[in-house]
Amino acid sequence: MEPLQALRKIFQEAGELSSADELLHLIVARVKEVTHSDVCSIYLSDEEQEDWVLVATEGLSDSAIGKVRMRTGDGLVGYICQHQSLLNLENGSKHRNYRYFSETGEEHFAGFLGVPVISFRKLIGVLVIQSLDIRFFSDEEEAFLITIAAQLAGPLSTVLNQEKLSAITSDEGSNQIKVQGIKGSTGISIGRIHFLAPFKDLATIKDHYCDDKETEIAAFLEALESVKLEIQSGGDKLASSVSKDVHALFGVYLMMLDNDMIVRETETRIREGLTASSALKHTIEEHAQKFDQLEDPYLRARAEDIRHLGARIYARLNAHDTSIELPDEPFILVAKTLSITEIAQFSVENLVGIVCMEGSSLSHTAVLANALGITAVMGIGDIPSKKVDQQVAVMDGYRAQVIFNAGDHMQKEYRRLIAQENRLTKGLDKLKNLPAETPDHYRVNLYANTGLLADISPGLERGAEGIGLYRSEIPFMLHDTFPTEEEQTKIYEKVLKAYAPRSVYMRTLDIGGDKALPYFGFTEENPYLGWRGIRFTLDNSSIFLIQIRALLKANIETKNMKVMLPMVSRVEEVDAFRTLLDEAILQLKEEGIHVPRPSVGIMIEVPSAVVILEHLAKRVDFISIGSNDLTQYLLAVDRNNPKVSSLYNFLNPAVIHSIHHIVRTAHQYRLKVSLCGEMASDPAAVILLLGMGIDTLSMSAFNLPKIKWVVRTISHQRSVSLLSKAMALENEACIREILESELVQAGLGGLIRAGG
Ligand code: PEP
Ligand code: MG
Repeated sequence: MEPLQALRKIFQEAGELSSADELLHLIVARVKEVTHSDVCSIYLSDEEQEDWVLVATEGLSDSAIGKVRMRTGDGLVGYICQHQSLLNLENGSKHRNYRYFSETGEEHFAGFLGVPVISFRKLIGVLVIQSLDIRFFSDEEEAFLITIAAQLAGPLSTVLNQEKLSAITSDEGSNQIKVQGIKGSTGISIGRIHFLAPFKDLATIKDHYCDDKETEIAAFLEALESVKLEIQSGGDKLASSVSKDVHALFGVYLMMLDNDMIVRETETRIREGLTASSALKHTIEEHAQKFDQLEDPYLRARAEDIRHLGARIYARLNAHDTSIELPDEPFILVAKTLSITEIAQFSVENLVGIVCMEGSSLSHTAVLANALGITAVMGIGDIPSKKVDQQVAVMDGYRAQVIFNAGDHMQKEYRRLIAQENRLTKGLDKLKNLPAETPDHYRVNLYANTGLLADISPGLERGAEGIGLYRSEIPFMLHDTFPTEEEQTKIYEKVLKAYAPRSVYMRTLDIGGDKALPYFGFTEENPYLGWRGIRFTLDNSSIFLIQIRALLKANIETKNMKVMLPMVSRVEEVDAFRTLLDEAILQLKEEGIHVPRPSVGIMIEVPSAVVILEHLAKRVDFISIGSNDLTQYLLAVDRNNPKVSSLYNFLNPAVIHSIHHIVRTAHQYRLKVSLCGEMASDPAAVILLLGMGIDTLSMSAFNLPKIKWVVRTISHQRSVSLLSKAMALENEACIREILESELVQAGLGGLIRAGG
């Protein structure tokens, strides 16, 4: 069997397993089978990473599991760990490192092939096969085992996490597990974990048959009714706290449930002999597949909703209570993914944190958490619900870490930090009306980033001098069709009015990458290099024209809007936009609507724009640096991929030098420069940006006071000198070190956590 075929089979079967032990057993059994060997065993590192322990075997005696342990350098397994390379021996017992363990019964086996299992550059275990015959394993067998070990590294490291987690429960307090994720929203929180289990995928249910048809039909109808009620009350609960757009989704769900066909077809299938669950599965799948095949992307996306509803009815039918009991104490929601509608089921009073196993810093969940000031950590990978549910955890949103089963000491330490943060925030309140000016009178503007109407007031409350980035795609993402010109105008008007006369930098639709519209789905092999930002809008000029018209109309009264283009990579894009803008202004004029012409700027997020900045600069009125994307594209590191997140760093010298170049070039052209990525809320990075002479920093409202404190404490002269030191350094760690030591010396050590 081909390695990939064998692996596919293992992964398929693994889906049905519930414990780590079962998974390990499955792996050794299948690998032994496909390699035609006589033994297959797995050794994993123990909790302290000191011993390599036999955790599963097919062929050796079961009683050896957990007992056979080797240090690095000790025995054949220890030898492999020491050298981190494979070992292929004709007769294992003849090797100088061989150590005999009587529990194993391994004396009968001669041929030995062991390969290291490495996950993210870290050795986590060894996979071994053995044969009765004295023989070397062939090159093909070596290649096969290496491939299998590489593919199993991910699942095996999950097993290791689970093992560590199970140790937590047996030895409370001393085994906290720190899990690294991706930043969602900053802050520190402590709360009891409330695990939201995903609904079962209906399609995986096997067919079952029944005799008592009437009872099954009654159970189905009852489940259907209670799901309807649940959705209704979810929608009602929400009405006051979320936008109309989100609320409207509930109406769509109810309409789907009222669809007579779903009821009739399920009943018919039950009468034909299927149980209610099996009948429901067929009905839902049939309808979902019809949607799957439709051309219209909006309708196609509805298949997902139908499946979701089916899963909820199934959960009810099988007596899993889908209604959520709200804890009466601070709690942290943990789930695979969380949609905005799911979060909206909770009152936000006690919700102090959100942890998602999947998802990115750009997902809706992160955006909403930011807007609400709730700590969020994304993409932490699989966590078994049984081990973490209802335990106390600590979240450090600045470092994107979650500490499950936080012991007393850890909790105390973090409570101290929370108290310190609260004091800091209170202390910072008095800065609200003071200018963001360095002690030697260098003035910058501090603006807020927004996208939800919900984040308008936090910005104003914290003294934002304007909006430096309005992410206009967010209202588009919350809608279930393209918002009309009227709808858009109203939303933009609200934002512009709330901030008038302060400036608002409206970014045009930045769709693509991981920001998809549910009603305009398209798949690309490489979405970050694909149909994104200005490329998408220029290619869909009718959508773009509507947005431009709406922006222009919204600005009639307040005249405080500037328009900013995302993801610009070539001059033609700016020229094409200007043509569209002229057209929109002319169209409106012909309709008797006179609108002011706004300033137009571009975001510098793509390396090509850095290089051709001089050409771009001649065409625009201002520059805004999107450091999130600029870092991603300069370093070729996907900003949402946990595998490479340790390489994603805006203090990388390549990023610092590029930003310095952008600021200098823009100033030569007398253009103001702002920076609106995450970097603007990092106190260490802000020192460098001040040194470069940045004009505006724009960030999420919650970070404004801290950054104002940095600005008001570090002199411009000092930041210029630190910048020149930093520019001579080779890596981000050295750069961060000198900046953080400056913060400590300046008495701003308390802010360092915000650096991430
Ligand atoms: C950026 O890329 O830095 C930016 C501000 O835009 P977004 O995060 O919305 O892509
Ligand atoms: Mg961007």
